[in-house]
Amino acid sequence: MARIGFIGLGNMGGGMAANLAKKGHDVRAFDLSADALHKAKAAGCLPVASASEAADGAEAIVTMLPAGKHVAEVYGALFAVASPSAILIDCSTIDVATAKQVAAAAQAKGLVAVDAPVSGGIGAANAGTLTFMVGGSAEAFDRAQAILAGMSKAVIHAGANGAGQAAKICNNMILGATMIATCEAFVLAEKLGLDAQAFYDIASVSSGQSWSMTTYAPLPGIGPETPADHDYQGGFAAALMLKDLRLAMAAAKDTGADTPMGAKAAERYEAFAEAGQGGLDFSAIIRTF
Ligand code: NAD
Repeated sequence: MARIGFIGLGNMGGGMAANLAKKGHDVRAFDLSADALHKAKAAGCLPVASASEAADGAEAIVTMLPAGKHVAEVYGALFAVASPSAILIDCSTIDVATAKQVAAAAQAKGLVAVDAPVSGGIGAANAGTLTFMVGGSAEAFDRAQAILAGMSKAVIHAGANGAGQAAKICNNMILGATMIATCEAFVLAEKLGLDAQAFYDIASVSSGQSWSMTTYAPLPGIGPETPADHDYQGGFAAALMLKDLRLAMAAAKDTGADTPMGAKAAERYEAFAEAGQGGLDFSAIIRTF
């Protein structure tokens, strides 16, 4: 079992750190929030007073922070104390450029870093069934996998540093666009007089099938239980979908990629968030059609 520093104990990180402690790892946990530290203690982690203290003497340092600027800031503090044999694993969803920059800065200090963003929401974080997409060298991937195994159903090597974040934003660009396509199709089906259940039964076994349609149908009472069955509470917040779509659009601009469906999805989620609906599950966007 390893000594692990865990920084960022929010909605996702709280459950992830708890799972590592449950597996028997010695988890030194830090967050700016006293409430998060309190919960981490109850879950079997040792709360500490700073990111540096969490990192000091750790074999692996896991971060689960809101955005790139938080990761860059925390990494600045870690570099001074991290042991040269430690691996830095950033599980936050951040921009590809920052992921590459912090990995290069780590390497310049003689440290090994990977980006390892996740698919799966708070439920999967708590259950230890996240999918990790990892960017880094093959050797770093092997080392990271040993730690991530305790929190996951799958750990996949995406490529070099930054490739994990690239996979994450491309995946979520598909998710945003397919959710919108699914919503507009349900609305058109209704206007054409089709029964929603009949349409679901057909599209789920036809070429209109997608995860957004079949597993995460945006209407209550249709398909497996989803946030739609709970008035769109819980699940994956529309504000987080917007965050990921903005990262995808920034990456498309940087690389000159043509992403019209992603751009349209970003526009719709932006308007939805501006209307004060960003806290609802992202499938609630069906209400705007
Ligand atoms: P969150 O806001 O609940 O948690 C972030 C935590 O980081 C907070 O507890 C905050 O206090 C802490 N923090 C911020 N700055 C810090 C610092 N300098 N030092 C220590 N702690 C600091 O966010 P979350 O929902 O847990 O998401 C975390 C990351 O995971 C984000 O990048 C998000 O995009 C990604 N993600 C979230 C979900 C989801 O469903 N919530 C799913 C997949 C990926």
